[in-house]
Amino acid sequence: MTDSFFLPDPDIPDPDDAFSSAPLRLTIDLGALADNWRDMARRSGKARAASVVKADAYGVGIEDAGQTLYHAGARDFFVAVPEEGVTLRPHAPEARIFVLSGVWPGTEHLFFEHDLVPVIASEEQLAFWMATVSEHGDHPCALHVDTGFNRLGLPLEEALHLAEDVSRPASFSPVLVLSHLACADDPASPMNRQQLEAFRSLSAAFEGIESSLAASAGTFLGSDYHFDLTRPGIALYGGEAVKGVANPMRPVVTAEARILQIREAKKGQVVSYGASHALSRDSRLAIVAAGYADGYLRNLSGHGVALRQTGLAGAQGFIAGHKVPIVGRITMDMTIFDVTDLPPDAIQAGDYIELFGTNMPVDDVARAAGTIGYELLTGLGLRYERRYLDAE
Ligand SMILES: *Cc1c(COP(=O)(O)O)cnc(C)c1O
Repeated sequence: MTDSFFLPDPDIPDPDDAFSSAPLRLTIDLGALADNWRDMARRSGKARAASVVKADAYGVGIEDAGQTLYHAGARDFFVAVPEEGVTLRPHAPEARIFVLSGVWPGTEHLFFEHDLVPVIASEEQLAFWMATVSEHGDHPCALHVDTGFNRLGLPLEEALHLAEDVSRPASFSPVLVLSHLACADDPASPMNRQQLEAFRSLSAAFEGIESSLAASAGTFLGSDYHFDLTRPGIALYGGEAVKGVANPMRPVVTAEARILQIREAKKGQVVSYGASHALSRDSRLAIVAAGYADGYLRNLSGHGVALRQTGLAGAQGFIAGHKVPIVGRITMDMTIFDVTDLPPDAIQAGDYIELFGTNMPVDDVARAAGTIGYELLTGLGLRYERRYLDAE
């Protein structure tokens, strides 16, 4: 089919409105974000719920997300690196901001100037922090202890020893002791109880100091895991925290891309790089302006990506009330969807297809690539035009 020449539709909104003309766009529902935080705060029972806003608030945007969460009532925030804390500070003026990667020589001034709390995770960092506070004056810190995850943290034995060490400097008075669960997304895992028992001994050893064990998934494990502060991240952004159960959170991010062209192709013809997909019927194909440079992972392709071993089908998009499959390989800037099963006049070039969001759960899309919603959200490229829906 030759593409028909079409005149602008009078319904097309103001061309100056960047959102309505963008090839790629994100709608970020700050009301849903605030609701999700309130929901996690309620699920945290007697504990306070913090907000984890590392990695640009999981792609949502740390400034808008931070401000929204602060207005919803969050007063404890976690970031990965000091620069994220610096960006967040004006949007969360009275909040405590914890920096999970701790403090390193050359960054210490940021902790004092922007009132950030380093999360100390090793003997070396502790020694450096002690030297720093003796020079600059007292400043709160937190302590990250490993209880079996073997990622970051002071070994449990060292931490217990530190708690009992009467000769430890008086200036060492953490405001929070935390640890992280390895398997909280699987409530049946025996790791959860083991880490809980280890953390209980730690929390008792640091009596009088607040303690925190649960991230999103851990919060769902119940009140034993809540201690004084929960640390939800993914659940705030609408992602799935616990495997195999319905996700109760509201979706926050909707990613859409424009259909650049609709083409008719014949049975037997092939699609995209590597000619890896042959059409089994005469087909209508929508060529869409999103590719792996936009975080729409190449592994979401249905066929012809050798490394993808998680299932035979690729991801689906959502348009005109229907789910439509990807055909052929995803390319850097474009993806091809099979729209043959849609009514012929249901869609046209210029329409938007939802990559994930309110109709296509981000985790369903992620699963098609053998990954998790976290990776899709934090990997969104720079080309999306963003629209924030206000919380109020
Ligand atoms: C990322 C992170 C969190 C948040 O985890 P979610 O699974 O996104 O809720 C909490 N605590 C620590 C230490 C983290 O690294």
